[in-house]
Amino acid sequence: MSKNGRRTTESFFRNVERYFDKAAAFLNYDTGLLNQIKACNSVYQMRFPVVVEDKKTGKQSVQVIEAYRVQHSQHKVPCKGGIRYSIDVNQDEVMALAALMTYKCAIVDVPFGGAKGGVKIDKKQYSDETIERITRRYTTELIKKNFIGAAIDVPAPDYGTGEREMSWIVDTYLAFHPNDINAYGCVTGKPISQGGVRGRKEATGRGVYFGTREACSIAEDMRPLGLSTGIEGKRFAVQGLGNVGYYSAKFFVEAGALLVGVAEIDCAIINPKGLDLEHVMQWKQEHGGLLQYPYGKVIKNPQAVLEVDCDILIPAALENQITEENAPRIKAKIIAEGANGPCTPAAEEILLKKNVMIIPDMYLNAGGVTVSYFEWLKNLSHVRFGRMEKRFTENTNLLFVREIERLTGQHIGSNERKLLLEGADEEDLVNSGLEDTMITAYHAIRDTMKRNKKIKDLRTAAFVLAIDKVASSYTTLGIWP
Ligand code: GLU
Repeated sequence: MSKNGRRTTESFFRNVERYFDKAAAFLNYDTGLLNQIKACNSVYQMRFPVVVEDKKTGKQSVQVIEAYRVQHSQHKVPCKGGIRYSIDVNQDEVMALAALMTYKCAIVDVPFGGAKGGVKIDKKQYSDETIERITRRYTTELIKKNFIGAAIDVPAPDYGTGEREMSWIVDTYLAFHPNDINAYGCVTGKPISQGGVRGRKEATGRGVYFGTREACSIAEDMRPLGLSTGIEGKRFAVQGLGNVGYYSAKFFVEAGALLVGVAEIDCAIINPKGLDLEHVMQWKQEHGGLLQYPYGKVIKNPQAVLEVDCDILIPAALENQITEENAPRIKAKIIAEGANGPCTPAAEEILLKKNVMIIPDMYLNAGGVTVSYFEWLKNLSHVRFGRMEKRFTENTNLLFVREIERLTGQHIGSNERKLLLEGADEEDLVNSGLEDTMITAYHAIRDTMKRNKKIKDLRTAAFVLAIDKVASSYTTLGIWP
């Protein structure tokens, strides 16, 4: 095991292939076609020198950085997927994550192939200036090999990266492509001021919430788990309070769920009576960690959160967290996969036997890439969503309201009036597009499962759906019958 508890012996890419093979058995495709879908199309491994500064001493030296960009599938272009900054980055991991992106995009009907990037660094060791230098150099390497561009491959944030890194990427890209009118579409997850879209930062967490809410709304599926419908009143725990974990937890809390456990890199905090999410976040910020957190039981092993007694467990950190070792001790009835690949196939087998519902990553965390798609569309269209129609809608609504008041002789109160009049702005449209995507995709997966009685779990159904969609883009080309 590595220091963050991840199994280093198991191939993550092989695990994705195992899930794929399990699903492919339910489909009737030619082996050659299935092999083409499964394979990573392009793997770019790079090494580049960067002048780094020791954070404490300020001493400068040259370090050779190991980095990757993998385009798993070019069945649709551009390819799409985040860039991860972590000392645990390796080729196998980036390949697996790129493959998951292909299936994820297919499930939510985002017309992209899957990709992923990784830079093997421990960010804590470096000054902000060094991280900027690494990011800009990495971007330059992608440019040199034609691995980035609005029509080619569009990176985004992932573990260890965010808006700041994305704005360095777009700025570097622009410097090399001053005549490219669509240059801003070369990367998503940018700050609003750099061509980002409202709602992107919260999108993955919001999608986790919408997807879980949809699953929990079906009484027929909740009954075997011994759960009532709805999110309200459910006890949940979250592993990881990064962008995905924090926003997932925030939307669950807003919907009336009780947060009974959290974990960060240093420890887990458990409190069956409930934790105050915002207070936990503030404490983490002020104290640089949660080890001394006073309002819950602190357990030094962060993975302890996975075994908390709760209804919904949201692993929102890294892959291979739930293994055959800890799966038998998991008490949650629903596992809502915010992270990519948090359950190994062996763990999943144990959990399914225990009747746990697993809402799979490649569907549940697709909110990020869905809103990335909206951002890319915004960049290509060069106009903010809602700009053209907001005022028109409001003027039309006003005519309706006046007519209703005239016909009924009643005056509509100012709060209701405001709600009835308001036209949608960018954030409203992004969130409603995301909500619709997550609801539609959940039912597509569930229907696939219902149609084929032999498919017993949502992940296999999601893979069947994804493989079918990717396969159709090859068969319609006439390459395969
Ligand atoms: N890194 C995120 C993911 O794993 C987002 C990818 C994107 O927006 O392209 O889904």
